Amino acid sequence: MRLLILGGTTEASALARRIAGMPGLDPMLSFAGRTRSPAVPPIPFRVGGFGGIAGLKTYLIEAKVDAVIDATHPFAALMSRNAAAACRDLGLPLARLIRPAWSKQEGDRWTGVATMEAAVRALGESPRRVFLTIGGLQLAVFAAAPQHHYIVRTIDPPDAIGSLPSHRLILARGPFSVTDEISLMSEEGIQVLVSKNSGGAAVGGKITAARTLGIEVVMIERPPTVDMQSSGSVNAILAWI
Ligand code: NAP
Repeated sequence: MRLLILGGTTEASALARRIAGMPGLDPMLSFAGRTRSPAVPPIPFRVGGFGGIAGLKTYLIEAKVDAVIDATHPFAALMSRNAAAACRDLGLPLARLIRPAWSKQEGDRWTGVATMEAAVRALGESPRRVFLTIGGLQLAVFAAAPQHHYIVRTIDPPDAIGSLPSHRLILARGPFSVTDEISLMSEEGIQVLVSKNSGGAAVGGKITAARTLGIEVVMIERPPTVDMQSSGSVNAILAWI
């Protein structure tokens, strides 16, 4: 069975490790190409966009794909929509491997927002020390609030970092432990954390650390999901396969 796995997440990597060498499976893991040096997976992989729904359909036909697993990030909404449309048009089975969202617990001081622009507004007018953990692509939106000092953590150096007049850039790839997150937030005097509601343990330490330290969190909620068979468990996806 020829499988296309849409990746770029720890869940996709975990699935790749489980199915590597499984008899009867011929998998291909696809990356968008955002990370400059992704960890090399133990199954065949490709890098780069397909060219919208039409390009994805051409790929699926030419590569004779039998089933697709969308294991993209919860915020990669366009790729998920494209996969749903292409699979529907071609009658291909599609399942989603998606980590559960974080939910608010006692002690959390969350302000939920729907967009990055709303996250900027939620920081308020007075200067604050802000921990930005939203990736590099949308950093420039925070240039609208130059009064804050931003501690920015990304995997690769972001192009837009210069748009933030007061910042410190930390280049690091998770997972991050709760202990390390508490140390970092304390040392940097963080007053507010900005995070997408990505979910998952690998980057969840910052949420626990913020709760422990009583730090406010501006939480960008997930975009609406496409209605399809979905699970947060690699085992459930293996059963589906
Ligand atoms: P997006 O907005 O949903 O997708 C934009 C375009 O990137 C898609 O239309 C597609 O191009 C291409 N693309 C996305 N995922 C792809 C994949 N797995 N394989 C091949 N092409 C892909 O996605 P995004 O938010 O930019 O995220 C890009 C990648 O980074 C995803 O793979 C995602 O899993 C990963 N990621 C995203 C975030 C996040 O916060 N958004 C965080 C961590 C990891 P074409 O239309 O040309 O096919």
